[in-house]
Amino acid sequence: MPSIPEQGAWPAPLGLLGGTFDPIHHGHLRLAEEAREALGLARVRLIPAGQPPHRSSPRSLAAHRLAMTRLAIAGNPLLEVDDGEVLASTRSYTVLTLERLRSELGSRQPLVLILGADAFEGLPSWHRWTELLGLTHIAVANRPGYAPHGRRWPGTLSAELDAACAGRIGENGAALATSPAGRIVPFDMTPLAISASLIRDLFAGGHSVRYLLPDPVLDYIDKHSLYR
Ligand code: ATP
Repeated sequence: MPSIPEQGAWPAPLGLLGGTFDPIHHGHLRLAEEAREALGLARVRLIPAGQPPHRSSPRSLAAHRLAMTRLAIAGNPLLEVDDGEVLASTRSYTVLTLERLRSELGSRQPLVLILGADAFEGLPSWHRWTELLGLTHIAVANRPGYAPHGRRWPGTLSAELDAACAGRIGENGAALATSPAGRIVPFDMTPLAISASLIRDLFAGGHSVRYLLPDPVLDYIDKHSLYR
């Protein structure tokens, strides 16, 4: 874990929520909101991926996913959007985004990468994943369909991820406020079995998706004939 000499008060932790957001939905928004509240984050920055490395091409163009993300958080000053991955011409690797944010925000800013349990379990497949905890803390939310992680995720993690967690698990947000990076904090959020794939499937079947995502996002989807 990085050890930084004391230089006065720490800036309040900033949450980071990356995703394909294809489209953004209330599961993402509650994840951001509940992480912010549970972990004492100053704000949460949503970072739509441009070209996500882990999956086939998103259904909607990056510019549409960015626009929908902006609409979804409009009016909430505690949420913000980072367009860095969308505007980049390279693949969206989280480690590169974290390096950019570190150089923008400085070495003392506590950063908290917010992940659903499914994303956390897949961490060892991420580009330069062993460097992530040198750049950010990680907060892991439960997600329906994934084993409840409890405090130590008994039996659900790969051996390499389990080893990377050793000595890093914090009980609550306090663990994130006095160092810039390196801790892992699980937290419970209201279980919402909403996913972007479910929404795309509902669209494909001609079903309603109303109330699974914000109305302005749905209006945008209709206006631009997305997911048809
Ligand atoms: P898809 O169904 O297309 O895979 P998704 O709904 O999982 O998409 P992503 O953009 O891939 O959305 O997810 C971004 C982040 O949000 C991930 O860390 C994921 O675990 C988390 N997340 C998405 N939906 C939920 C939810 N309903 N509850 C908790 N976390 C969620």
